[in-house]
Amino acid sequence: MKPLIADLHTHSILSGHAFGTVRELAFEAAARKMQILGVTEHGPGIPGTCDPIYFRNFIDAPRNLYGVEMLYGSETNVLNSGEVDLDERHLRMLDYAIAGIHGLCYEDVGIVKNTDNVISCMENPVVKFISHPDADTFPLDYKALVEGAKQYGTALELNNSSLRKPKLRPGCVGNYEKLLPLCMEYGVNIIVNTDAHDPAQVGDFTLAMALLERMEMDETLILNNDADKLKKFLLSR
Ligand SMILES: [Zn+2]
Ligand SMILES: [Zn+2]
Repeated sequence: MKPLIADLHTHSILSGHAFGTVRELAFEAAARKMQILGVTEHGPGIPGTCDPIYFRNFIDAPRNLYGVEMLYGSETNVLNSGEVDLDERHLRMLDYAIAGIHGLCYEDVGIVKNTDNVISCMENPVVKFISHPDADTFPLDYKALVEGAKQYGTALELNNSSLRKPKLRPGCVGNYEKLLPLCMEYGVNIIVNTDAHDPAQVGDFTLAMALLERMEMDETLILNNDADKLKKFLLSR
């Protein structure tokens, strides 16, 4: 399989519970031969994350560190209202948004409504990726999810941290075994991210790549194995 050249879901100390600075994340990204690194602090629904004013100051953010192109986004939270937890004024400032369900600010409302809530976040064109749609604790209807991703041009994430910490995301392997074939059937893009909360995890896709090999994943659907393909996707809507 082609090596991955970008990691678009990482957290720095600004998220309040991660262990490296932006520069430390970038340094490790360069060591792992990443061409692009995305730093995506949690949205306001996660206790202790950055104040939203951070998302308004990317004009001052370094755009190249150690030869790595830097992008700045947010991993926003899917709320039970079917919206993400960052308002339009801040979403507009981001290079891209990820949306994901987190138990700290989301209550499981069953497979149908959980799926509806995620799909309704996909309608926002800033939301390019859905993070870790993989845990039995927040069950999702994968056929409906993939159809929604197809309709809105959103990519679904294969999260290496879920595979590394399966107690946090119970059932994740079995759920990816359902999800990935559906992505191939419908031609829906995936992104493979580390969700690093420590610089040592940046660009380490070992477990995810093994799963993709085993599932015989169609490489053309993986966005982050080619910088041009990834950038075209980020500008697509
Ligand atoms: Zn986090
Ligand atoms: Zn997350």
